[in-house]
Amino acid sequence: MSSNENTAGPVVIVGAGLAAVRAAEELRQSGYDGELVLVGDEPHLPYDRPPLSKEVVRGERDDTTLRPQEFFDERRIDLRLGVAATGLDRDSRTVSLADGTEIAYGELIIATGLAPRRIPGLPELDGIHVLRSVDESHALRAELHEGTRALVVGAGFIGCELAASMRALGVEVVLVEPQSAPLASVLGERIGTLVGRLHTEAGVDLRTGVGLASLTGDGRVSGAVLSDGTELAVDVVAIGIGSIPVTGWLEGSGVELDNGVLCDEVGCTGDPHVWAIGDVASWRHTEGGHKRVEHWSNAGDQAKILAGALTGTGDPDALAQVPYFWSDQYGLKIQALGTVSADDDVHLIKDDGRKFVAYYSRGGVLTAVVGAGSAGAVMKMRAKIAAGAPIGELLESAPA
Ligand SMILES: Cc1cc2nc3c(=O)[nH]c(=O)nc-3n(C[C@H](O)[C@H](O)[C@H](O)COP(=O)(O)OP(=O)(O)OC[C@H]3O[C@@H](n4cnc5c(N)ncnc54)[C@H](O)[C@@H]3O)c2cc1C
Repeated sequence: MSSNENTAGPVVIVGAGLAAVRAAEELRQSGYDGELVLVGDEPHLPYDRPPLSKEVVRGERDDTTLRPQEFFDERRIDLRLGVAATGLDRDSRTVSLADGTEIAYGELIIATGLAPRRIPGLPELDGIHVLRSVDESHALRAELHEGTRALVVGAGFIGCELAASMRALGVEVVLVEPQSAPLASVLGERIGTLVGRLHTEAGVDLRTGVGLASLTGDGRVSGAVLSDGTELAVDVVAIGIGSIPVTGWLEGSGVELDNGVLCDEVGCTGDPHVWAIGDVASWRHTEGGHKRVEHWSNAGDQAKILAGALTGTGDPDALAQVPYFWSDQYGLKIQALGTVSADDDVHLIKDDGRKFVAYYSRGGVLTAVVGAGSAGAVMKMRAKIAAGAPIGELLESAPA
C-alpha cells in the first residue's frame, strides 16, 4: 500500500459520480498535492442521484450538480467528462479511453457505480424506462401526467420512490413485486409490510407475489401481462429491479471481480496501486466477508478511509462508521441506521399507522434501527448501535 511520501501520481479516478468526487475531496484534504484526474462517461458535471427519483422526476428541481466547475479548478482536479474508460493495463499502469487516448496513473481508483438490471426478452418499445442517470429521470418525467397509467416493476427503493413521486403527479400506479412486501429483501417482511401500507393508502395498486411476464405494444408500450396472467393497459413502464456493478471495462485486467471490485477493508484491490470505492466496490468487512453497499453515505465514509490509506494519513477510528441510508416516500423519511439485515430479529417499538420505529437485533445485540417519520428516535441510537447494546435492556426501556 502506498504512503504519502511515495504516492506516485497522477491519481486517476474512473467514474465521476458521488464516490469519485468524495475521494478527490478527501485526497486533497489528506494532503495529496499531485495530479488528480476524474474520468466520467456522462457529459454533465458530477451530480447527486437521490433527487432523481424524487424532486427531479416530479419536475420540482433540475440541477443536482454536486460541485461547481470552480470547485474542481481551485483544487486542481482535472475533469475529463463525456469519455468512458474502456480498458485497464496494470503492467503499464494505463487506462484506455473510448476516444482512443490513454491515461497513465500512479494510483487508480475505480468508481464506476452501477447500471440498472434489465429484464431479458422484453420488446424494444418507447415508454419503458429505467432510472440511474439524470437524463433517464428527465425522460421519465416527460411522460408522467395526471391520469397516466404507469406500471412500476419492482418495489425496491427506486420502485417505491418512483411510485410515490408518480402518485404526487396524479399518475395511476400499479406496483408489482415478486416478494411478499416492498423492500422485503432489505428491511424484512414485517417492516416491508408497513412500507406497503404507505403505498396502498396513497392509492397505489400494490401487487405482491407477482412479477412482469411480458409487455406489448406497437412502437410504444400499451399493455403488460403479469406472471399470474393479469393483463393491464399501460402508458408507461418503469423497471426498478436492482442494479449491477459496472465492471465490464475491467475484463482481462486481472482485477479481481465478484459482484463488484473485491477490495480489502480500506478499498485496496489485490494490486496495491488499484483501489475501488462506492457502489461498484465490494470491501472486506471488519466482521469478515465482502460487502457492496449501494447507499449515498457509504461513498463519503469510504472516501475518508481510502484517502487516509492511500496517503498514509489514515485514522483507524474511521473504520468504525455506523452505516446509514434513507428513502423519501409520501412526505415521510424512512431511515436506517446500522447494518440492516432482512433476517435479523425485528422489534416494532412504535407504529401509529403511518410513522414507525423498529429495532433490529442479532444474537441478542442491537444491529440497526429503522424508522419512518421518526428521525429523532432513529438517530439517537447511533452510540447504542456502535456499542452493540443488548437488545433486552433496550426493549425494557423502549417507549410503549
Ligand atoms: C435514482 C436514485 C435514487 C437514490 N436515492 C438514494 C437515497 O434516497 N438514499 C441513499 O442512501 N442512496 C440513494 N441512492 C444511491 C446513491 O445515489 C449511490 O449510492 C451513489 O450515487 C453512489 O455513488 P457512486 O459514485 O459509487 O456511483 P454513481 O453515482 O453511479 O457514479 C458512477 C459514475 O461513473 C460513470 N461511469 C460508469 N462507467 C464508466 C466508465 N467506463 N468510464 C467512465 N465513467 C463511467 C457513471 O456513468 C456514473 O456517472 C440513489 C440512487 C439512485 C440511482
